Amino acid sequence: MRIIVTGGCGFIGSALVLHLVQDLGHEVLTLDALTYAANPISLAPLDGDTRHRLVQTDICDPARVHALHAEFAPDAVMHLAAESHVDRSITDPGAFVRTNVIGTQVMLDGARSYWEGLPEAKRGAFRFLHVSTDEVYGSLPEGAFFTEESRYDPRSPYSASKAASDHLARAWHETYGLPVLVTNCSNNYGPRHFPEKLIPLMILNALEGKTLPVYGDGLNERDWIHVEDHAKGLVAVLERGRVGETYLLGGRSVQNNLATVKGICAAFDHLRPQNAPHERLIHFVTDRPGHDRRYAIDCSKAEAELGWRPEKAFEVALEETVRWYLDNESWWRPIREGRYTGERLGLAPAA
Ligand code: NAD
Repeated sequence: MRIIVTGGCGFIGSALVLHLVQDLGHEVLTLDALTYAANPISLAPLDGDTRHRLVQTDICDPARVHALHAEFAPDAVMHLAAESHVDRSITDPGAFVRTNVIGTQVMLDGARSYWEGLPEAKRGAFRFLHVSTDEVYGSLPEGAFFTEESRYDPRSPYSASKAASDHLARAWHETYGLPVLVTNCSNNYGPRHFPEKLIPLMILNALEGKTLPVYGDGLNERDWIHVEDHAKGLVAVLERGRVGETYLLGGRSVQNNLATVKGICAAFDHLRPQNAPHERLIHFVTDRPGHDRRYAIDCSKAEAELGWRPEKAFEVALEETVRWYLDNESWWRPIREGRYTGERLGLAPAA
């Protein structure tokens, strides 16, 4: 297949692109604006591989998006590009509305006009997979789980912008017949995760002997899925999902944030026993405004219909993730020191 992936230089996008090209042999065109959150080094294993091309482009640029569809002639679009960090959405919501809402509309329109021009035989096989988050459903009471029927109740500018993008994706299916699929996934972890997010931030702070700042009482719960399980889930939805449907993907691994940070400390105690116990670094800080208490996914629909299930066990894969950061300092050091810009890499300045 020929697949356009937006946001392919980000955390999940890079895991997905590597899986599509290296494991499955697809041809991929990555569209990415290379914002601060992108790290093109994540796709370095594909350097020289003719099955992959990276084009720096803003998904809010309709002319460019239309032209790239016509030029690449995709069989599918997997749309991941987004502003993704909740804390940043609180200080700069406009950037989230622009990329997540307008950008999704531009991508849907670009795909639609290309799809409408396809011969009948190819139109039925085309897919547009919109990748979203479980945060659109708001906060759960203790012990409850989100399903595909859960009511939308976004509570941060990030989740509100993603909720809007989900509605646009479904509207393009209902209104224009574009073969759209939507996924809403829980919190991801794994290699190549930008170090402003909880798990990589804690790993790098622990590595440097800095404090581990935990919001509030640390009892907010998240359902952690390994990024490679998510990438495989997205492919399963693309290949076997029913058009017009939504699939929830989760890790079946609900942990509160304090337990997650303690898990990272335990991995460090094992890997760096000379600095144990790492739990002494934990420090509670003022909670984030509107901090959702619990997210948890019931992914039985995806499991039953697609034959997919999350495979990685959290404790084991968390230690693998810690090990990845220990072994890949060249990936994170420039970001950590604020030295990373696309310019340094001969690409574009970071936004
Ligand atoms: P990320 O922030 O790591 O990467 C986002 C990528 O999008 C970056 O490479 C960035 O350069 C690119 N981008 C941003 N604005 C752009 C624009 N205007 N034009 C083109 N490219 C642009 O994000 P992520 O964590 O990999 O998330 C990917 C997708 O998955 C997002 O849609 C997010 O909402 C969704 N999601 C993330 C999680 C998670 O835990 N990280 C969970 C569920 C769903």
